[in-house]
Amino acid sequence: MVLVGSAAMYTKELDAVVFHKEPAADVSKSLFSFRLWFSTISVLLLLAVIVVRKDGFDLIALGCIVSTLLIMSRQMYTMFENRRLVLELEEKVLQRTEELLQKNKELENSTEQAKFLAGHDPLTGLPNRREFDRVAAEWAANSKNFALLFIDMDRFKWVNDTMNHGVGDLLLRQVAERLQANIKLEGRVFRQGGDEFLILLPSTDVRKVEAAVDELVQALEQVFHLHGKEVFVSASVGISSYPKDAKDVELLTIKADIAMYAAKKSPGKRWLFYDESLHPVEQSKLEMEKEMRYGLERGEFLLHFQPLYRLDIDTVAGAEVLMRWNHPKQGLLPPNQFIPLAEESRFIVRLGNWLIREVCRQWHDWRDQGYEPISLAVNISVNQFLHPEFVAELEAALREFDMDPAYLELEITENIPFCDAHAIAVLAHISQLGVRMSIDDFGTGYSSLQYIQRLPVHTLKIDRAFVYDMMQNRNNRVLVETILVMANQLELDVIAEGVEEQEQLHFLKEKGCTFVQGYLIGKPVAAEEFRLRWLG
Ligand code: C2E
Ligand code: CA
Ligand code: CA
Repeated sequence: MVLVGSAAMYTKELDAVVFHKEPAADVSKSLFSFRLWFSTISVLLLLAVIVVRKDGFDLIALGCIVSTLLIMSRQMYTMFENRRLVLELEEKVLQRTEELLQKNKELENSTEQAKFLAGHDPLTGLPNRREFDRVAAEWAANSKNFALLFIDMDRFKWVNDTMNHGVGDLLLRQVAERLQANIKLEGRVFRQGGDEFLILLPSTDVRKVEAAVDELVQALEQVFHLHGKEVFVSASVGISSYPKDAKDVELLTIKADIAMYAAKKSPGKRWLFYDESLHPVEQSKLEMEKEMRYGLERGEFLLHFQPLYRLDIDTVAGAEVLMRWNHPKQGLLPPNQFIPLAEESRFIVRLGNWLIREVCRQWHDWRDQGYEPISLAVNISVNQFLHPEFVAELEAALREFDMDPAYLELEITENIPFCDAHAIAVLAHISQLGVRMSIDDFGTGYSSLQYIQRLPVHTLKIDRAFVYDMMQNRNNRVLVETILVMANQLELDVIAEGVEEQEQLHFLKEKGCTFVQGYLIGKPVAAEEFRLRWLG
């Protein structure tokens, strides 16, 4: 009986077994441990002694023996059952832990990947513009002297247009590799976007920088093998120095960009250092350009919408999107106060691409809110139109917001070189997408209607300059009339801009003009106001 009692002392240890580090192995081992069986064996021995001695062995003793054995077997059964459950549980816990570890690892990987993607360009694997801003700011904060190289490929556009699209990507990847492989002085390479790259060199020694640039330019002038074709390209490089040219990274980049542009335009020069004579603009303009770049990041640009009114069915058929800049100090600026400067600096490409995405997003939102779809017209600058990535950006925006291309209209001016092969290819591509096109400010340029008719253009917008005084000025009235008659023959739509008076509206309607736009119908207003006044 003492032994039976002492066996109970082990139960605590057995409970603890479950929490042991490797419980599964221990539990099964403990089933065969001598200590566990000790009490059982003792009782069995005791019963055996009772049976063997035979004295006083009667029915009561037999009953005792049988019930003790029954109790014991019941206990054994419970014990085995417990073990089985514990083992099962352990196995499940192990399995689950493994799954969790796996999930954790996956999560870690994807977080790392997201972090990498945020700072890197997916095509070339190079750190991107955002990463550049971070690193350059860090170098500047450590008051290092460094040079900034702005690199732009010279014949990329040609490669991209004449060969298929994949070739352009391949070329960019190989260019990135060559830059990485040939960079000296522990420089760092970044992709700015398109066919532009940025390099930070931790030196401002003119001779050292020149030697490094020379090596890069030569490396890029070696033959590229692209899908079995041999291709030669070259690059133009603009160089600015910190802190000599600017103490601010954004301004430093703009100056390197200016130098690059100057190098591209001067024959025989493959690189140029920035100096004030390259770009005789006032400091105030450069400041403004910097503010624009920051403004875009801070969401200071917004869209206004002016109704396009359809006369034959008396409804608002769409809107022209006009950009505004909510300047932190100067308030709401009209486009003529910033678009010309943006065009000069080529910042217009970024700004314009941003605008197209916003337009697609707005169209999608109104659609989502259940309004009938309206067409939206966007002004496109020449440089934006001619940029090698323009069509790709346009396509991506349409796809991202699931916008029906038939509702997008691009307003281009006659300044676009309609005889240029690239411009013609872009026009064809846009029309293939199903996007409509109109000629803005028609009548102020020199293109003939004959010529325009051969282009995939759907609409002419008669410039405000002819409309505003046409009721008083006979010349302008005749001109408007003539445009209407000819456009009608050529099956082009016409929008008369700048309609401010009822009289003008009557005249235009009488002469068969289908669309009008002007303060008489409505001024450009913000999206929400446009929705309230003109939609639904
Ligand atoms: P636009 O394309 O000829 O746009 C029409 C301009 O005429 C707008 O000026 C509009 O507010 C104004 N307007 C409309 N109806 C009337 C009227 O009845 N009377 C008068 N006096 N004016 C009227 P806004 O918004 O100042 O735009 C000026 C120019 O800026 C535009 O001329 C366009 O060339 C350019 N622009 C505007 N937004 C953009 C843009 O997003 N990208 C580009 N590249 N250029 C833009
Ligand atoms: Ca326009
Ligand atoms: Ca116009």
